[in-house]
Amino acid sequence: MFKIVWDKPHNGVTLTMSSAGEALAIAPRPVFWEELDLLGLNHMGWTYPHADAPLLWACDRRYFYCGVLVMEVKGGNLYDDPEIVLTPEGKNIILTPIDIEALRDANAETMFLIEHEAMEFINSVYRRYKGITKASETNPDIDFQALAARLEKKTGEKQVVVKEDCDSFDIMPESEANAQGKGAVLASKIDMFIASFSGGKDSQVLLDLVSRVVPSTDFSVIYSNTGYELPTSLELYKITEDYYKKIYPELKFLTSENHQSIMYYWDKMGSPSRMHRWCCAVMKTAPLYRLLKEEAGLGKQPSVLVFEGVRAEESERRSQYNRTGKGVKHNNVINARPIFEWNATEIYLYILLHDLPYNDAYRKGLARVGCSICPFSSEWSEHVVMKKYPECIQGFVDELYAKTAEIGIINDATKRQYIKEGKWKLRAGGKTSNTEGSSVHFITTQPDFQAVVKHPKEDILKWLVPVGAISIISRTDTDIVGSLKYEKDTFQFTIKYDSDNFTITFSNVPNDPIFHSLLKRAIYKATYCVHCEVCEVECPTGALSVVPIVTVNKKKCVHCHKCLTFKDRGCVMANSINISESINKNNTKMATSGIDRYSTFGMREKWVNEFFSGYENFFQGGNQLGTKMVPACINWFRECEILDQKDKVITPFGLACAPIYPDNQTLIWELLWVNLAYNSQIVNFYTANVPFNRAFSKPEILAMLKETFPDIAEATLGNPLGALCNMFGIGEETIVGDTLQQGLIKAKGRSVETVMRAPYNDVSYKTVAYSLFRYAESKNRRSLTVSEFFSDSQTEGIYREFGLDRPVFERILRTLQEERNHVLNVQLNLGLDNINLREDISSADIIKMML
Ligand code: SF4
Ligand code: SF4
Repeated sequence: MFKIVWDKPHNGVTLTMSSAGEALAIAPRPVFWEELDLLGLNHMGWTYPHADAPLLWACDRRYFYCGVLVMEVKGGNLYDDPEIVLTPEGKNIILTPIDIEALRDANAETMFLIEHEAMEFINSVYRRYKGITKASETNPDIDFQALAARLEKKTGEKQVVVKEDCDSFDIMPESEANAQGKGAVLASKIDMFIASFSGGKDSQVLLDLVSRVVPSTDFSVIYSNTGYELPTSLELYKITEDYYKKIYPELKFLTSENHQSIMYYWDKMGSPSRMHRWCCAVMKTAPLYRLLKEEAGLGKQPSVLVFEGVRAEESERRSQYNRTGKGVKHNNVINARPIFEWNATEIYLYILLHDLPYNDAYRKGLARVGCSICPFSSEWSEHVVMKKYPECIQGFVDELYAKTAEIGIINDATKRQYIKEGKWKLRAGGKTSNTEGSSVHFITTQPDFQAVVKHPKEDILKWLVPVGAISIISRTDTDIVGSLKYEKDTFQFTIKYDSDNFTITFSNVPNDPIFHSLLKRAIYKATYCVHCEVCEVECPTGALSVVPIVTVNKKKCVHCHKCLTFKDRGCVMANSINISESINKNNTKMATSGIDRYSTFGMREKWVNEFFSGYENFFQGGNQLGTKMVPACINWFRECEILDQKDKVITPFGLACAPIYPDNQTLIWELLWVNLAYNSQIVNFYTANVPFNRAFSKPEILAMLKETFPDIAEATLGNPLGALCNMFGIGEETIVGDTLQQGLIKAKGRSVETVMRAPYNDVSYKTVAYSLFRYAESKNRRSLTVSEFFSDSQTEGIYREFGLDRPVFERILRTLQEERNHVLNVQLNLGLDNINLREDISSADIIKMML
């Protein structure tokens, strides 16, 4: 929050708002004698006492004494010691501890300001949310927010609940409340206030600040024991509980933990990685919300306000958060972050100046105290943990070592290297998971939906309940016939059991991607569920319980699908194994790389206009692209083949298009669209899969995308879909979207409501010729049939590209037969539908001949 400068005479730091003095770019942390011993400074000529107070400061890995750089530490990892580089000023020095009283004097005013700012924030958040709780408690017969909503509907004017004197509440128009200077109490009724405690320095400060503001009877402290805890964190939790219980005897301390050990999930789900960071959800979030559900005793997830010690400085991702956020981690949770803007030095100053207990691991050299092993931890952190707390990390390292065999590493030195360099943190595949032989294969045969499941972990009938109400029509030892109601329709299904395996078939299901996706998710859950608890806490009604076995209370389930849609594949375990099980009719899988290559920038007409009118210097400053647009533009141009694959120069195809473009933009966009259908994964997906004449919402297309690219996260797939919609034009007409009718967008403001393709019968005969030759080249044959383009299983070619009607296509074929270049001949009479393309020319020749 404040700038930090050295207080050299006192070997301290000073927080300041003044521009005088050189502000430090990195917030220093205090360094204790234990860390210096770990680094071996006691054998390198340094003399220092074993004092309680810190001895010097570190900015990252540079150490400063009285504001002077004395040492730099480089390298170090799980197995290797770091290199110590002493500066001339750092040779043979005698350190005296930091003078805490001088530190207090230098920072009393600034710390008072930030503490009180944070406490005011806590107070205002607490009072606002407590307000609405009180509103319903004061007069439980009146639901003020419901009344406000009703009045708003009636008057058409925004109404708010405000707190009047004497703890009473009133409803008035928002404009009037503003005029009277009255703040609205918020709409969310809070069942519990929580201070989240992790054993780290930030949550220590957070707890102290909350305890100074919120009555101790009104909040609880929850410690999440993830199973990765350092012994010092467990000790600190006990010390902290004793410390605050002495001051606030009624303050409640609770611990949440998963019903299974962390090692159980390492075995089942594979080691966590940056991509599969299941451990936060499984070991921390789910047990926390489960505990809250138990504590609240409401039979469902309570509404909770969590004060947490998250700080913007911790990571780029966290810096994007707001100080309060609703539904960030869970629908029923409001997160409040009082110390969001504090820097690390301010945190340490608060602890030192208030003489609070803190985690002993900071004294050993850890800059952040969290889990003993983590895909996001630094090599230095692993070094410290291995040196000081080997019993906490060795078991996980042994497990990583054992799992290297499963990914084909057999040499001991390579195994060690793999672990030392943290390559395990980059795991994307599922080879290290243990599915115990469970597997599922989806067979996409319209109009039926079928899945073959081997060794399922759970009863499929239970997991179908969240999709829709089910009824059993008949049942034998090997067969079940039932029906499932989804939205307004009821679908019949059969399940055929064969020892421990089953095949489930839904007959005549509509080609509705969301329904298909929900069915798949339910089947994934039945196949792989290891009862990790995560989806249970998503259930808002309390219908779902997964421990010790899955039960879904049919009376309570409202088919909201939250337990199915919270995660790709609807299941943490299924997501973590990350093995693609979708096969299409040709038993081939789509390539999955390179789809997310445009950020969310579509290929804009403006870019193409500028390029064709000045391609010589387009990428040398002759464009109006923003910096982030340039890579997207390059990718689009290469995929539509107007830009060379290596150099940023126009291609022969582009050169042929450029002179035509000013007079016939539609023709050129038709050709570009054909090229994109072959080269761009998102356009290829779109032309191959999205039917004509039906408006699809973005979530529907996203569900289809997910089926084609099951290994890519939905969030990632949202980018190319956004780019495609941008190319079609949101709130503006474009050639490809509107003239060619390939993306007719209905939008509210900038938000896309639906996208629809419509048949485009005005396609040029030149484009048809080009498309036919491209298709023939991809199939490596020159004899084609008209019917193959209109076959249900077709994913390429002129019909998938433009949706033109068959009679229109046949008419164009006849035109091409008569055209002076005679690029093809056709036989369309007497039941024949043959197309024979000229053997001696290519699609590139079509461009030369016809443009
Ligand atoms: S989250 Fe709960 S209510 Fe919603 S579908 Fe799942 S079990 Fe039913
Ligand atoms: S179905 Fe739910 S409880 Fe079971 S493994 Fe998947 S996410 Fe966990």
